[in-house]
Amino acid sequence: MQLPREVIVGSGTIERIPEVSKRLGFTKSTLIIAGSQTYEIAGKTAKELLEREGMEVNTFLVKSATLKDVQAVEEKIKAFKPQVVLGVGGGTKIDVAKLSSARQGLPFISVPTTASHDGIASPVSSIKGFEKPYSVMAQAPIAIIADTNIIMQAPYRFVVSGCGDVIAKFTAVKDWKLAHEEKNEYYGEYAASLALMSAKLVMKNAKLIKPGNEEGLRILLEALISCGVSMSIAGSSRPCSGSEHLFSHALDMVKPNHAMHGEQCGVGTIMMTRLYGADWKHVRDTLKMLGAPTNADELGVEREDIIKALEMAPTIRPERYTILNKLNLSREDYEKLAEETGVI
Ligand SMILES: [Zn+2]
Repeated sequence: MQLPREVIVGSGTIERIPEVSKRLGFTKSTLIIAGSQTYEIAGKTAKELLEREGMEVNTFLVKSATLKDVQAVEEKIKAFKPQVVLGVGGGTKIDVAKLSSARQGLPFISVPTTASHDGIASPVSSIKGFEKPYSVMAQAPIAIIADTNIIMQAPYRFVVSGCGDVIAKFTAVKDWKLAHEEKNEYYGEYAASLALMSAKLVMKNAKLIKPGNEEGLRILLEALISCGVSMSIAGSSRPCSGSEHLFSHALDMVKPNHAMHGEQCGVGTIMMTRLYGADWKHVRDTLKMLGAPTNADELGVEREDIIKALEMAPTIRPERYTILNKLNLSREDYEKLAEETGVI
């Protein structure tokens, strides 16, 4: 089990990067991985703060999260030999920093600039270029420094996506338990409870989560970080990724770049909750309250895309047993499911 040693969430916490680095024993050199935008938003400040403390800081800007980007960062690591890698950004930059540092045996500090998904604290990376469309194991961050001042500057849509990714744990945990009961898969009650509690807290506090509300943002960040920790405890993404995530991954393949990861997972959760015979209307209403998409139109996709993605979902990760494998539904069933839940 690999867990973060320091988690700092709050306003102005970027200032504490040097202090945390020193406490963890990184006093000489750091490599900052950021995007051109996230460098301006937070990377530059981190660099200046660390240099002020006499540390040698190198920066490497990445545009995307492909295997090529990961390899480019690995080359940079080999050349510069830093003590630690600092990933500054939303999803992709952190994923690249996480996997490249893991492959080079270096620790990694996560400095998220958005709250759009649980990758900010998880041990897995979502990288394009592998055969599979889903995440691969990398490593957990040794520290997470989430500055709410910075994260609040990002468009509210990122927060909405983060909420969808957390609410998705409702069905992810159900799928995990199902796989345990029917396929004798390892099931960790502690990890499952932690993921489920995060989903419940976000739903319970949905009224507080709105543009400009720092308290709501903190609740979401703590939930996302707890989800990341639950994956570290489980040793896989199981507690956080079930049939609703398979639907989202499938939709990415059917129609790439239409909606954000968490937005798609949220819509997936509505439908999968219905398959479990649980209160899917509550999930939908909470997503609505948060301003999240709840149907194909709002996701910017067609009716046919949703049905195709549902049909594809159980096939893209055969070893991940979910309600979709159990029910083995027909195209007509999927159509009916999407219609009944108002997704199409
Ligand atoms: Zn996710």
